[in-house]
Parts: sequence; C-alpha cells; structure tokens
Amino acid sequence: MKVNSADIVISAASKKQYPNQPIPEIALAGRSNVGKSSFINKMIQRKNLARTSSKPGKTQTLNFYIINDKFHFVDVPGYGYAKVSKKERAKWGAMMEEYFAEREQLKATALIIDVRHKPSEDDQVMYDYLKHFDVPVMVIATKLDKIKKGQRHKQLKMIQEVLEMEEEDTLIPFSSETGEGKDKAWKTMLSHLQV
Ligand code: GDP
Repeated sequence: MKVNSADIVISAASKKQYPNQPIPEIALAGRSNVGKSSFINKMIQRKNLARTSSKPGKTQTLNFYIINDKFHFVDVPGYGYAKVSKKERAKWGAMMEEYFAEREQLKATALIIDVRHKPSEDDQVMYDYLKHFDVPVMVIATKLDKIKKGQRHKQLKMIQEVLEMEEEDTLIPFSSETGEGKDKAWKTMLSHLQV
C-alpha cells in the first residue's frame, strides 16, 4: 500500500464536528501508551502525525485522518488510565457510544494490544464492546520486536483465547520498530475498506 497523502482533518469533540464525506473509515482503539500512535504513524509513513495519547484531564477528542483522499483513520482516545475520575470516564463512554453506535462510514476497528502481555481487563471489555456494534475487529498485537521469536506462537494463541476472538477477526502481530506485520495490516484494512 502506497500512502501518498495523510493529513489530520479534525479533532472532533462531538458528533457535529465529524467529517460528513461518505468515505469509509477504520477506527483505532487501545489502552493509553500501548503503541497506538506509533502504529498509525508507521502505517502512514509519517514520523509524528498521530500524537501520543494525551494525559488524563486533557480534552478527549476523536482525531480524523484522511489517507490518500480515500478513507479515514479515526484515532479514538486511549483507555485504561488508573486515575480517571468517574466524570471523565462517563464522558469518554458517551463519546465512544456517540461514535460507534451510529457511524455509517465505519467498516472495521483496529484494537491495539501489547503482544507481551495477557490482554488486560480493559482490553477484554473493549473487544466485547466493539463486537457488540457488529463491526469486524482487527487485533493488532504490537511491540513484537520485544519478544523472542520462539515465544510468538504461544503469545498469539494466548491472546486469541483470552479475547475469545471470533473467526471473522484477524490477529496481526506487528512491530512499529521493524515494520513487521505492516503488509498484513494493510491487506486486512483494505479488504474492509474496499477502496
Ligand atoms: P500510545 O499512547 O498508544 O499512542 O503509544 P505510543 O505510540 O506513544 O507508544 C508508547 C511507547 O511505546 C513509546 O515509547 C514508543 O516508542 C513505544 N513503542 C510503540 N510501539 C512499539 C513497538 O512496536 N516496539 C517497541 N520496541 N516500542 C514501541
């Protein structure tokens, strides 16, 4: 996949700010600090377009990027901060619901997790949450460069089992350091986007 252009369209705080172009979209979710911005930047070959998740308390937005003028990546705010107030958590939940429940352009979601660890409680809840909107979920197991080759199979099998991944969902081992997994990630994304 050759990325000729990638630009931020808007950081949307609410639905009325979403771009209304009828082009397909992939949403990207993951707990904060998991490597979501690195994943996005690696996929679109930009050093710093997607920014590292903001700290708790900062304004939470959905960041829409347009790629090759054909489709959007939607970077959703990271989850799993230990110290988030109830009020902030509720606001985050409302924002997620507003987007996922109604966005017709949404074709698939990429859930970014860390290949080194058992998916956290939050990851498991997020996987189930995404499935309940009936969109395919690609699970991106990133930081692959941080485990030994001999551990890969075991880790991936464990992830698949813990999340109880459905058949239509693809698990993609990935490294933003080495670019491993990038071709498979694009292939899967393009099959959902149909562009
Ligand atoms: P975000 O908060 O989910 O957007 O996370 P970032 O993309 O900012 O990544 C968090 C940290 O993990 C940074 O220090 C990255 O350099 C590091 N990181 C992200 N992906 C990888 C990876 O595939 N391999 C390695 N070794 N480090 C990574």
